[in-house]
Amino acid sequence: MSWTRRVLRCAVLHESPGEDVFAPMAHTLCGFGQWFMSSRARFQKLDAPASERLDAVHQAMHGAIRSICADVLAGRPGRVADLDAFEQTQNELIALLSEFKTQFLANAARHDPLTGLPLRYGLEVEFLQVQKNCIRNGTQLYVGMIDADHFKRINDDYGHLAGDAALRHLATTLKGVIRLNEPLFRFGGEEFLLLMQCHTHDAATVAAKRIVDAVRNSPVPVEHGTPLPLTVTLGLAWVADEETMASAIERADRALYAGKQAGRDRYCIAGKLVAA
Ligand code: GH3
Ligand code: MG
Ligand code: MG
Repeated sequence: MSWTRRVLRCAVLHESPGEDVFAPMAHTLCGFGQWFMSSRARFQKLDAPASERLDAVHQAMHGAIRSICADVLAGRPGRVADLDAFEQTQNELIALLSEFKTQFLANAARHDPLTGLPLRYGLEVEFLQVQKNCIRNGTQLYVGMIDADHFKRINDDYGHLAGDAALRHLATTLKGVIRLNEPLFRFGGEEFLLLMQCHTHDAATVAAKRIVDAVRNSPVPVEHGTPLPLTVTLGLAWVADEETMASAIERADRALYAGKQAGRDRYCIAGKLVAA
């Protein structure tokens, strides 16, 4: 809007709007352009085509501004096409930003601010999608329920902030060890849910072991102190083609409980689904 004011002052008072308006890369010099460049990755991640469009529209808007101001300062009559382009691109820019704002807010509500992981809000949709993929690809779906061991002690001994940092660290460790196509959710307090697609049962158990080992081998860094040991217990349930998410989670949870009873820091596999 500050540039719009400068265009208006230039048109009405024939004042120079400033050198930056005429720069070939004017769209990277304005306040919005600078902010957009520094936030570009977040826009791309949310909606890449709309982000490209936003960039193009913003650049076109500056092209129109440059042309209008150049005509005014040279004493030439303004061109209708330039004004039309300016109005149209400004409108589209505002509409795109408004749509992005809605998406950013919706996205923030679906993600955990502490770990950045999706919350269970979108889990059902994702579960059905992965289940369908598995049936199509002939792979097996597993639900992994991962719970930090004795996490209460970390809070009790080191404080809630250290507990938060430990959870963030745990989420990073988990993300580092799972495959990109395996959705990981923050399911609850110190519980995470993983949807795994595996070719064989052996592959699933190898993956489960890798996760438990990775957490054990990644103690939580502490400033000026010895890293805190952290372990998890993982309950793993193979999901039948027709099984509901609620049933699979319940079995994974039972396996998790069994793992806790057996001493924690391990994975435990749920029994087969028993037909009702
Ligand atoms: P277990 O091995 O049986 O799972 O023991 P646990 O101590 O992990 O289990 P319990 O359910 O008794 O305690 C979970 C703890 O996790 C208590 C709760 O305060 C803590 N917690 C859950 N969410 C958060 C969080 O976001 N931040 C912090 N700092 N702590 C959390
Ligand atoms: Mg728990
Ligand atoms: Mg726990």
